[in-house]
Amino acid sequence: MKRIDPHVHCRDGVEIRKANIRKVSELAMAQGIVHICDMPSINFPILTENDVVGRLDLARRRKPVTGYSVFMTLTLKEEQIKEAVRVAQKYHEVAGLKLWPPENEKRIIYKTLARLGYTGVLAVHAEKASLFKPELFNPKEPWTHNLVRPPEAEIASIKEQIRFAEEANFRGTLYICHITLPESAEITWQAKKYLNIYSEVTPHHLFLSTLQMRGKNGLLLKVNPPLRSREAVGGLLRVVRQGKVDCLGTDYSPHLSIEKLLPPYLSGIAYYQLYGMALDYLAGQGLPEKDIENMTYWNIKKVFGEKLKNV
Ligand SMILES: [Zn+2]
Repeated sequence: MKRIDPHVHCRDGVEIRKANIRKVSELAMAQGIVHICDMPSINFPILTENDVVGRLDLARRRKPVTGYSVFMTLTLKEEQIKEAVRVAQKYHEVAGLKLWPPENEKRIIYKTLARLGYTGVLAVHAEKASLFKPELFNPKEPWTHNLVRPPEAEIASIKEQIRFAEEANFRGTLYICHITLPESAEITWQAKKYLNIYSEVTPHHLFLSTLQMRGKNGLLLKVNPPLRSREAVGGLLRVVRQGKVDCLGTDYSPHLSIEKLLPPYLSGIAYYQLYGMALDYLAGQGLPEKDIENMTYWNIKKVFGEKLKNV
């Protein structure tokens, strides 16, 4: 069975050899993945046609062992949004556009995309930065990261993306990255009645909870959105079994342990093996093979349509 990972972060440009496009593709291939979609970090965003050309050229030189696509990042600047739309239409290797906090709280982006007639994928990191409480983080108790970015920040943001998309008459595909809560799955599922919307879940949110962050090296599990309570993890499995979550994407973020264990305590999960563990976990929980194939391949093909038609 072929699988696609719609959400990885390669760290080319950050000069970390083990985290480059080639290495990430090898780790993906070891999990049966034949294509990766790269979302370059906020620090090295792909904003312009030049950035895309440079990234694709770099990707060719790295010789990935899987197929490779890249996302462009959206800013609030109208000119940049225009260029991103044009470039996303021009290059089939551009999987879509990515919207991060705090820009995801601005309806103008949806209005602009709708006005420009964008019909591609808009991938959103749906957390509302205005609801974060950064002062609650204590690195000695890594699970406190969950308090910084509470469930309400995710739920409110997903509702907001849906409202923005509706109000703007957005004609593209809304892809809600890494949902962590059963409520998030229900909200996106309900919105399918009137929007082209899909949800993604990560391996780590499927079977790890804040309990694991209480062990030693809990900081290695600091991630955005954060791991949730055991109840939430149980709820997420329930909605997956009900077929209400569309895609599995790793959000693989190859940070070095030292970047996570010491300031600035970077967020991101650097274990690609969790992918295979998640598949085993889902199968062990009785999820039919067909549903797993949908989440790891067919639904992802639906989301990206033409872009991944040869995968
Ligand atoms: Zn990510």
